[in-house]
Amino acid sequence: MKAIMYHYVRPQSGGMPYFRYLALDSFRRQLDHFAETEGFVEKDAFLESLTTGQPVGKGVVLTFDDGFSDHYDYVLPELKKRGLWGIFYIPTHMYATGQLLDVHRIHVLLGKFGGEAILSRLRHILSDTMLSHNHVAEFHNMTYATQDNDQSTSFVKRTLNYFISYEYREKVLDDLMEMFFGREQAIMSEFYMSDAKIKAMQDEGMMIGSHSVTHPVFSKLDEEAQRRELEDSFAFLEKATGGLQIRTFCYPYGGFHSFTPTTERLLDELGCRFAFNVEARDIEPADLENRRQALPRYDCNRFAHGAAHLEYGKDPG
Ligand SMILES: [Zn+2]
Repeated sequence: MKAIMYHYVRPQSGGMPYFRYLALDSFRRQLDHFAETEGFVEKDAFLESLTTGQPVGKGVVLTFDDGFSDHYDYVLPELKKRGLWGIFYIPTHMYATGQLLDVHRIHVLLGKFGGEAILSRLRHILSDTMLSHNHVAEFHNMTYATQDNDQSTSFVKRTLNYFISYEYREKVLDDLMEMFFGREQAIMSEFYMSDAKIKAMQDEGMMIGSHSVTHPVFSKLDEEAQRRELEDSFAFLEKATGGLQIRTFCYPYGGFHSFTPTTERLLDELGCRFAFNVEARDIEPADLENRRQALPRYDCNRFAHGAAHLEYGKDPG
């Protein structure tokens, strides 16, 4: 069986010309495609496979990261219409702060103004002391190279998600948001599902999972900080849903660099039944037997109709 990962799914960009998202029509076409080629794994069969350790041979499991309103407004009705279910991985910090998570502030900055504009501001704001040492040279080389918007976009993401030391990240993003958006509140409203909608999703037969509190790169955190991210997010979701069906997790950013053996051990200790990594291959019996806290999952863009919609910039085809 295959797990597929989605993020933004919406009919239009909401006034953000560079924003990358899967168009709702493409999502529908991709579901049609999966129905014709792979079929879908039913929830009971999926839960059964966790018990037996035998993955369902063929079929797709749909997963949706980050708790966006998109998932309640557009994905849920589409899944219901087709009799499908999905796993929704939700970070929880925004329910305490009422603000966009840093990872999403980066998306809306880039989405509204484009990579070149953000990168040129970043060049003025960032000083070497704010960067991890081994990335200083790379930052300077990249920022002054001639680039297209796509390159600038991925470079801004790498800088703000990986190169920058976490103690400076929030302040830098505060400055960028202030500079480009003035007051942030208008963007925040309706960006995420409310906690009432999280419960409604579960009541409709969807599965809710943890995606940490603040969406950090876990490999950058010590054990205690990792534990807090996991414990607090599960606690919030248990309360919001009135009790999670099972505990499941997916790693922010994903990829083997984004977590450590400690993260996997903590997930075991907290009763998490399985966690998704990002790795482009099917779930095999060995994965369920030996390494449940790092199950492979494909990005939707690896399959027909899954490419991000781009109003400007290169069409990925
Ligand atoms: Zn995420």
